[in-house]
Amino acid sequence: MKLVFLGAPGVGKGTQAELLCRDRGWTHISTGEILRDAVTRKTPLGRRAQEVIDRGDLVGDEVMLGLIRETLTGLGEDGFVMDGFPRTPAQAEGLDRLLEDRGEKLDGVLVLTAPDEELTQRLLGRGRNDDTPETVRHRLTVYRENTAPLVTYYEDAGLVRWVDGTGDIGEIQDRIRILLVGGGR
Ligand code: AMP
Repeated sequence: MKLVFLGAPGVGKGTQAELLCRDRGWTHISTGEILRDAVTRKTPLGRRAQEVIDRGDLVGDEVMLGLIRETLTGLGEDGFVMDGFPRTPAQAEGLDRLLEDRGEKLDGVLVLTAPDEELTQRLLGRGRNDDTPETVRHRLTVYRENTAPLVTYYEDAGLVRWVDGTGDIGEIQDRIRILLVGGGR
């Protein structure tokens, strides 16, 4: 199955995607992790992306689409879960094109939700470089302005399934697995 996990920063997309992929033998594609790895290794991409990430802004669509194209190239027919990508309408359209070129398409888009207060608490408890109070606030705004509109884009495609992202990790994972029974559509 080819899935996208959508939701605000801190909602648990990464944790849930990792658990699901481990169970199913799918590939977890986290653009945030790919970028942070590039920053650590001080690659040209990492050097360019670091400031953007630290500010809580978005890395450019062309760069991100190039990254995803590369990632997909190394991938077989097995399933994947994308977490943190796409984040803008241009990325969503680009992803559709990339998949179409491969004769593939998304099976579902899971939208995880949690109240803003809970997101903020989780993010501030995480201790990542870009998890300062100011950056967290900014990233939530960036999510609302750039990424939340993708829900409509994927709703129009009939792909959206909502997941309550509150509660403990196992509980949320159970909700996701129940949703996926029957093909995820
Ligand atoms: P994440 O781990 O998904 O919260 O991503 C951490 C940071 O990496 C984001 O705040 C952005 O600066 C950058 N980033 C990750 N994925 C994307 C994307 N699809 N488009 C633009 N920037 C991204």
